[in-house]
Amino acid sequence: DVLLEIHDLQAKVAATGKQILKGVTLTVREGEVHAIMGKNGSGKSTLSKVLVGHPDYEVTGGSAAYKGVDLFELEPEQRSHMGLFLSFQSPVEIPGVSNIDFLRIATNARRKAAGEKELDPLEFYAHVMPKLEALNMDPAFLNRNVNEGFSGGEKKRNEILQLACLEADMAILDEIDSGLDIDALRDVSKAVNGLKSQQQDMGILMVTHYKRLLDYIRPDYVHIMQEGRIVTTGDMGLVDKLEESGYSVLSSSA
Ligand code: ADP
Ligand code: MG
Ligand code: MG
Repeated sequence: DVLLEIHDLQAKVAATGKQILKGVTLTVREGEVHAIMGKNGSGKSTLSKVLVGHPDYEVTGGSAAYKGVDLFELEPEQRSHMGLFLSFQSPVEIPGVSNIDFLRIATNARRKAAGEKELDPLEFYAHVMPKLEALNMDPAFLNRNVNEGFSGGEKKRNEILQLACLEADMAILDEIDSGLDIDALRDVSKAVNGLKSQQQDMGILMVTHYKRLLDYIRPDYVHIMQEGRIVTTGDMGLVDKLEESGYSVLSSSA
């Protein structure tokens, strides 16, 4: 089944009127991993944020449907309750709130919206433990305050844990590799792959600047974004070709 269907999507920055997305077309089906690559400023994050309803942007044309529903008819919370998840480039710290409480609140908000039973602390513990294990994460994560003193890699892994708890159907991961050294990158990628093996129908849209993430999390499709449009689509072969030509075809920076 189709999860996300974007057609000729156009969007501008609300405050300045600057057009960023100039016609993006993309379809993600259940179980597919799509990567979007492109140099800085090409509009990758704008696309991610427009899809979750970030108020800085205004849609000026085209369409986007999630599970067959017009995305732009839904409030951002409704999108999230329907299982659309966006990872943040810089996750917030929440002093004084333990991670397990935070995860339980977020999980219950989605369950409540879906008409499912909310989980009490004990039930939630049973819900989260197998996920921690699949993600290869230390249970000590649960009792720490949200993101407080977390390393870059731990923050990213914690977001993947959040994604796992929510049992999201479609994940948009914007530069989950940013600022990570090679060990942290491997841990985060392992978490994503662990999640993927538990939730095989999940669709993933992965935004990145670098090939190395795609060596760990293999995409089915690779799209190259340039000046607010997807200009090329291929598979990993496309990435290899781009590497060989030193990304000069994209102009530079990456
Ligand atoms: P990428 O993620 O590919 O690096 P972005 O989507 O972040 O690109 O940005 C695309 C372009 O839109 C850039 O020129 C950026 O400066 C501009 N832009 C994005 N968001 C805003 C905003 N909120 N206000 C002003 N300009 C923005
Ligand atoms: Mg950028
Ligand atoms: Mg970006």
